Amino acid sequence: MRKKWLLAALGLVGLAGAVAYTQRDTIAMALISRAADGAMARNVMTDLPADQLHVGFCGTGSPLPSRDRAAACTVVIANGRLFVFDMGEGSGETLSLMGMPLDRVQGVWLTHLHSDHFEGLGPLALQRWAGTSAQAPLPLIGPAGTDQVAQGLNIAYGPDSKFRMAHHGPAVVPPSGFGFAARVITPGVVYDQGGIRITAFAVGHEPVTPSYGFRLDWQGKSVTISGDTAKSQMLADMAKGTNLLVHEVLNRDLVETMAQAADKHGQPKRGKIFRDIKDYHASPEEAGDVAKVAGAKMLAFTHVVPSLPRPLMRLVTLGADTHYTGPIRTMRDGDLLSINGKDEPAYRNLLD
Ligand SMILES: [Zn+2]
Ligand SMILES: [Zn+2]
Repeated sequence: MRKKWLLAALGLVGLAGAVAYTQRDTIAMALISRAADGAMARNVMTDLPADQLHVGFCGTGSPLPSRDRAAACTVVIANGRLFVFDMGEGSGETLSLMGMPLDRVQGVWLTHLHSDHFEGLGPLALQRWAGTSAQAPLPLIGPAGTDQVAQGLNIAYGPDSKFRMAHHGPAVVPPSGFGFAARVITPGVVYDQGGIRITAFAVGHEPVTPSYGFRLDWQGKSVTISGDTAKSQMLADMAKGTNLLVHEVLNRDLVETMAQAADKHGQPKRGKIFRDIKDYHASPEEAGDVAKVAGAKMLAFTHVVPSLPRPLMRLVTLGADTHYTGPIRTMRDGDLLSINGKDEPAYRNLLD
């Protein structure tokens, strides 16, 4: 008797499987429809406490190619406004995938004009323009030469913009919203509205001058972004008491290993580039020193050189904790830290 029941049950499972198999495309379409609905409705802002300062990591990589990391990008959310710092390759897409509402972007602040800090601008501008029907160009703020970058991009994307306007019409892609509007800045306060203040300061990334770091303050909470820099006293001064120091990092031993591999395979010029970059970035210990001198409440590593598979990443930042005793985290793309000003910033990843 039991055997009969078992056979009947197996038969039913088999029948259900067969129905699922024959209907697989219908089921898949229903799932896709649900996913599309979720994607269109998604707005990460509605989940974020409005009185906190949120720091998102839209690109944690470097010029060394990585499938896991977009190039340099950090986004700060204060009082419902988005402030983007650098926009390396792939980071515009990452920002969108994180669910960030691009109509809230106040502008992109460039730390310096190495290409790994601005190659994602084209895709971001398109997503913002076409996705939110932006009425004004995207503000692009940065050191001398930023105007040249904006002008070049506006020319390069000119033909594309004409095709899109002809296809979708001016109500969807307003001609006034295309491209970038550049503003060249010097050190000092570069944004001061609604109680949010951004201060630019010079860091050490010679021969790239000027190179800036940025500090954003709002309601007694702050985040300080190093930009690309060797160990910097100016950064330590400007990051005094900051809730979160976002610091670049390069592991010289690992980069030397790469230089030796290049030499070994008859690529001495590539080896030279690896050795050249060692002196204008900061080691984990040096970044730890800066965080300690600044009295930063937390240290977050980004622009990690080199990027290793996740279980090995701790090797890249080895030694930082012997120089700085506060919390340290090596960031991944999609990470978000939320600062309430009292406790250690809360962590979550928006892409997992
Ligand atoms: Zn650089
Ligand atoms: Zn860089």
